[in-house]
Amino acid sequence: MKATGRLIRCSLVIALTVPMLFWFSSCQKTEQAKVQEQQQATQKLATIGNLQTAYGSELKRSLWYDRFSKQAMKENLGDIAVLFRALSHSEKVHAEAAAKLLRSKGVEPVVPAIDSIVPGKAKQYLKLSLSNENLEQNIYAADTTKAQEEHFAEAAEWFRRALEADGRHARLLKKAIEQETNFARLPYLMCPECGYIVGSDKMEECPVCKTKKDKFQKI
Ligand SMILES: [Zn+2]
Repeated sequence: MKATGRLIRCSLVIALTVPMLFWFSSCQKTEQAKVQEQQQATQKLATIGNLQTAYGSELKRSLWYDRFSKQAMKENLGDIAVLFRALSHSEKVHAEAAAKLLRSKGVEPVVPAIDSIVPGKAKQYLKLSLSNENLEQNIYAADTTKAQEEHFAEAAEWFRRALEADGRHARLLKKAIEQETNFARLPYLMCPECGYIVGSDKMEECPVCKTKKDKFQKI
């Protein structure tokens, strides 16, 4: 009798567990399918293309600024070299954030071909960089609107941050051009989250992404 009771209990456990396992696994599959479906829908958005372009552009400018910094060093223009180095770091932060966002949507970021730089002097590079930054801001403003229209909130936030950080780049470059020589060298600090650069500004947190200033990196 005891053996029969055990058999009944075992059968009951199996009868209850097996359907539950099937139910659990089908729920998991539905969840995975949902994520995949969402990714595929996102991949079709124009914003994905805009993010790819922006990733390439940020990567390119990071590399260019690094070379401009080296050129400034050759000309013994330490202040300009430090500024370009800070800008290079900031663009790298943007590029990495764009790549991470693309990958989270199942898209592999495409590394662009980097055009060769026309030989020039550091001060010419300041002007070239300012005009590029201004151009980029117009593009990012349009890209932010597009991302909002497409309800792609993470991309809209990426473009907003890049737009504000690049606006800061433009102001720093303009200051360096206007002051011609010997503009005060600042101990540049950079927000590790959004690439915003600050000098001696008094602030508690990043004005773009609210990261606390004690987290900022010295450049
Ligand atoms: Zn920030």
